[in-house]
Amino acid sequence: MPDSLLNPPTTTRKVLLVDDDPFMLKVMRLMLEGMGALEVHGFSNAPAAFEAIREARLRPDLVILDINMPEMDGMAFFRRLSEIGYAGCLALCSGEGEALLRTTGQLAQSYGLRVSGVLDKPPRPERLRALLGACGAPAAPAPRASSPERTAEELRQALERGEIFCVYQPKVSLSDGSVLGVEALARWRHASDGVIPPAAFIPMAERSGNIGALTRRIFDLAFAQAAAWRRRGLELRVSVNASAHDLGVLDFPDFLLDCARRHGVDPSWVMIEVTESGLIQDERLLVEVMTRLRLRQFHMSIDDFGNGYAALSKLRDLVFDELKIDFGFTHGAAGDERKAAIFDASVQVGKSLGMKLVAEGVEDGSDWEFSRSHGAEVAQGYFIARPLGAEDVEPWLQAWRQRYREQIAAPAAPSA
Ligand code: C2E
Ligand code: CA
Ligand code: CA
Repeated sequence: MPDSLLNPPTTTRKVLLVDDDPFMLKVMRLMLEGMGALEVHGFSNAPAAFEAIREARLRPDLVILDINMPEMDGMAFFRRLSEIGYAGCLALCSGEGEALLRTTGQLAQSYGLRVSGVLDKPPRPERLRALLGACGAPAAPAPRASSPERTAEELRQALERGEIFCVYQPKVSLSDGSVLGVEALARWRHASDGVIPPAAFIPMAERSGNIGALTRRIFDLAFAQAAAWRRRGLELRVSVNASAHDLGVLDFPDFLLDCARRHGVDPSWVMIEVTESGLIQDERLLVEVMTRLRLRQFHMSIDDFGNGYAALSKLRDLVFDELKIDFGFTHGAAGDERKAAIFDASVQVGKSLGMKLVAEGVEDGSDWEFSRSHGAEVAQGYFIARPLGAEDVEPWLQAWRQRYREQIAAPAAPSA
């Protein structure tokens, strides 16, 4: 018999349970306390649990999360945990079966979270004990280079000092390797902490109401760059991320049009990427703003598809030009039936609504081949290029053309 079943682990001290079912909370709490967990906190309200972690009132070693909850479901919960750099362990539970749990677990891992296991309901004591054992080490500082979240005031100063800049990640055609455009991704060049990734400041900017200023700066930078490339003969379309908040601001389309004119950028070169979960905002306002953007000839893309709230009904109302399949369903899809099924379903939805399909997170040759043969038209990911500094885009283009010709296209078409 494994040791862990006989000796309760002693290192997992603090466990936070999140489940909308009070009975389940009680049962698990009793089991966990019997296994030597010193502090067990139960929350039936997911937003309250999240706030407790975010504000560091609770620093759990392990969060056991029901994935099926009203208000904020498990996926929304752990996505936000990853945004704040939560470094403890995570276990997922549900009564929907192991398959769903495993897929959700992989998704959580793809966000850089330490998933110590999944738990079918009703929970069996030996599984719970194994989870505690798997999460033996106390919470360490965030394993990835996630810097602490910044304050709104720091961001305001960073904008003022010009510390916010863009890197650009290419989007290429899966059928002929041509480069269709680049996505602008925000970065912060911090005086003492180096380059800070967007996960460390975008969620804060959204919560503190500062995202509007940041978005406008990013569009301004990206348009200036797009115009500079055109002057050098590079016809790159530029994709820029907008947050849900931006699409609820009535004068946003006017700002964008002004900004485009100022830089001599044609709106039809511009793709605005919006995440699916963003579309649960005030629907009428959203439709009004998006329609206005379309009327001004900007293109719209639905980002992270498959990973937010299924906003299918809204998809039909709002006309998108592009659908980006979340990297959680692209990378490794060739060897994972569940990812492949979601990938294929997303392709179906996109095709039936006349959208261009972009596979995000194409990390290797197998992802490329899978995406190409499963109906995606455009690829973006580390296999093609990491996000690049503006000055590195042109040299990359040269290198890519050669690499595509010699290494990617050639094996697929030996006689051509
Ligand atoms: P996103 O819009 O989905 O952008 C793609 C993210 O995936 C980027 O992370 C990119 O570096 C990363 N990525 C690219 N290729 C691969 C790959 O092959 N595998 C994997 N695992 N990841 C890949 P980044 O730059 O850290 O941005 C993270 C998120 O922050 C973005 O996700 C976007 O939601 C948000 N963001 C970035 N810039 C802005 C911005 O200007 N405004 C707003 N509102 N959000 C932004
Ligand atoms: Ca994006
Ligand atoms: Ca995305």
